[in-house]
Amino acid sequence: MDLAERALVSGDEPFGSVLVAADGRVLHKDHNRVSGGDATRHPEFAIARWAAEHLTPAERTAATVYTSGEHCPMCAAAHGWVGLGRTVCASSTEQLLSWTAELGLPTAPVAPLPVTAIVPDAVVDGPDEVLAERVRVLHSRRLH
Ligand SMILES: [Zn+2]
Repeated sequence: MDLAERALVSGDEPFGSVLVAADGRVLHKDHNRVSGGDATRHPEFAIARWAAEHLTPAERTAATVYTSGEHCPMCAAAHGWVGLGRTVCASSTEQLLSWTAELGLPTAPVAPLPVTAIVPDAVVDGPDEVLAERVRVLHSRRLH
């Protein structure tokens, strides 16, 4: 949530993600960085690429990605290709879609599919009601 807020304050979209090892260590974290013009600078994508470079396949499988918003299809595919483990998301793609409509935010150029539509065996927990409301508020601040 703090990373998502940091992204928003930096002029990026409010998304943040943390990669945690099986033993609880934070391995890598990032936030959305699309304001520079590269729309692929999503934190979940950055985490997948970092994991491919720095972790063994077994370490990747045992790791968990905690994220403010469920992965988009690009990030879900990257997550699946590098073999990362469980995902825990504060808010879902379905919620983001409804907030986008409700707040009049620009729609994504990529189909809003759930992670399991891209990676059928993915383990995804969430959304969390309380955290999702905080994510909704962050998205509403994109208007100001
Ligand atoms: Zn993404």
